[in-house]
Amino acid sequence: MTAALLRVRNLTKRYNSFTAVDGISFEIKEGEVVSLLGPNGAGKTTTIQMLLTLVSPTSGEIEIFGKNLAEHREELLSMMNFTAPYSLLPYNLTPREGLAVFSMLYGVRNYKERVSSLIDEFNLGELADKKIGKLSSGEQMRLGVAKAFVNNPKLLLLDEPTASLDPPTARQRRAKILELIQKSGGGVLWTSHNMREVETVSDRIVFLSRGRIMADDTPQNIKKRFGQEDLEEIFITIAREPLREPS
Ligand code: ADP
Repeated sequence: MTAALLRVRNLTKRYNSFTAVDGISFEIKEGEVVSLLGPNGAGKTTTIQMLLTLVSPTSGEIEIFGKNLAEHREELLSMMNFTAPYSLLPYNLTPREGLAVFSMLYGVRNYKERVSSLIDEFNLGELADKKIGKLSSGEQMRLGVAKAFVNNPKLLLLDEPTASLDPPTARQRRAKILELIQKSGGGVLWTSHNMREVETVSDRIVFLSRGRIMADDTPQNIKKRFGQEDLEEIFITIAREPLREPS
């Protein structure tokens, strides 16, 4: 059996009396792509922020490679990386310089080679020596995804990694991300509002609504369970469902 790379147990985050994430448990196995879906306010960002240790859980546990994240923070974070729409790279640097800075922060050996190979892998050649601040949002997004690979992460958190990309570029990026993940054997938590993308990339989908998990299964099984071929319709149904109190 493939080992669990990430194991989240009863994870909860409360802000005063408001519960943003309400006792969620899920796993990501090695080599697996798991999509975390849910309407605005469902708790996706809060969950990702807890996985990145940017937000402290109120209760519950996060284990990565069987180690408690709170207790082995530095070691585990060095094996992770992320990209998110809100994570900006330094505007006054060029992509080549920015990727070099992040590679050095992660202690990547031969970082110049790593940067060159990422520039090739992500087709950033023409942009590599322009100022990041002058790049379009789509170009910055491509760079953000390249940055997420600087340390060959074993666990990758991709928050809407294709959000600002046109369809052909998004398709290329998805293929590249999946190729690199397959090579590394790592696991991925992926968020997206594009249900076709979710269906293409996901081994499993975790649906969140109002801080709770409403479904956690393969796209095929979720479609069977809801008797619907269209993931978008299922998304709308789940988002509308009233929450049942635990019996
Ligand atoms: P999503 O990413 O799924 O849109 P979030 O995780 O950003 O959802 O937010 C979940 C809920 O928690 C929202 O209702 C949001 O307003 C609330 N929330 C997030 N951060 C804070 C905070 N720092 N203080 C109070 N409430 C917050």
